[in-house]
Amino acid sequence: MSILDKFKLDNQVAIVTGGASGLGKAMGKGLAEAGAHLVIADINLELAQATADEFTNDTGNKAIACKVDVTNVDDVYQMVEDVKKEFGRIDILFNNAGINEHVKFEDMPYDRWVKNMDVNINSMVLVSQAVGEVMIEQKRGSIVNTSSMSGIIVNTPQPQAAYNTSKGAVIMFTKSLANEWAEHNIRVNTIAPGYMKTELTKDYFAQGGEMIDTWMKFTPMGRPGVPEELQGAALYLASDASSFVTGSIVTIDGGYTAL
Ligand code: NAD
Repeated sequence: MSILDKFKLDNQVAIVTGGASGLGKAMGKGLAEAGAHLVIADINLELAQATADEFTNDTGNKAIACKVDVTNVDDVYQMVEDVKKEFGRIDILFNNAGINEHVKFEDMPYDRWVKNMDVNINSMVLVSQAVGEVMIEQKRGSIVNTSSMSGIIVNTPQPQAAYNTSKGAVIMFTKSLANEWAEHNIRVNTIAPGYMKTELTKDYFAQGGEMIDTWMKFTPMGRPGVPEELQGAALYLASDASSFVTGSIVTIDGGYTAL
C-alpha cells in the first residue's frame, strides 16, 4: 500500500461532534473528501443538515445530520443507535464540540464553570464511552479530541480559566484513554489549535484592538489560522497514515506554543 493510500477513508464512517460549523465542519469536509461517510452531530440541527447536504453534494459520499447535545446522555446513546442502524459501524470519532467564555475567575458563577466542563471535557467522556462500545466490538477505531493550545499555555490578556482548565483535561484524558484502549486497537489523539477564525472567535477579530494585537504578537506567524489548515492533521490522525500514533498532541498554532 502506498503512503497516499493510507490517507484514504473509503467506506469508513466518521462522527464529528460540533461538526455543523467552524473547525468541526472543515475537518469533517476533509474526511469526506478522503472518502468517509460523515455523521454531523450538533446541537444545531438546521445547520448540521445544511452541512451534511453540502458534503454529500460536494463529495458524493453519504453524510447525515444528528441533533445531539453532547452533554445529554439520552441524545448521545440515541445517536450511536441511529448511526449503527444507518451504517453498521463507526471508524472515526472527532470529539470537537466546545464553548469558550472570557470571564474573570472571581466573577464566574459556579454553574457556568460546570457548563464549560460539561461541554468541553465531560461530553468527550460520554461520547467516547458510547462510541467506544462499538469500536471495542469492532477491535478498531480512531478518536481525535479537539483540545487547544489553551490546554498547554495560559492565553493572554483574556481571563478564561474554565476554558484553559477544560482543555488541559482534554489532553490528559487523551493520553489516559490512549493507554487504556491500545489493547482494543483504538488510537486516541488530540489536536491543539491556536487562534483560528471561526464563529467562536469572529466577533473578537471583528472588534480588533489590544486583545487581538496581543494574540498576534504572540503568534510568530502573525495571523490567525483558517479552519482548512486543520484538515491535514485531522486526516492524518483519523487515517491509517498515523497507525503508530496514539496519545499524541498535535499543535497547529502558527508557532504560539514554540515561543
Ligand atoms: P464554533 O462555535 O464555530 O463551532 C462549535 C460547534 O459546536 C457549533 O456548530 C455548535 O452548534 C456546536 N455545539 C456547541 N455546543 C454543543 C453541544 N452541547 N452539543 C453539540 N454541539 C454543540 O467553534 P469552533 O471555533 O469551530 O470550535 C470547535 C472546537 O475547537 C472547540 O472545542 C473549541 O474549543 C476548539 N478550538 C477553537 C479555537 C478557535 O480559535 N476557534 C482554537 C482552539 C480550539
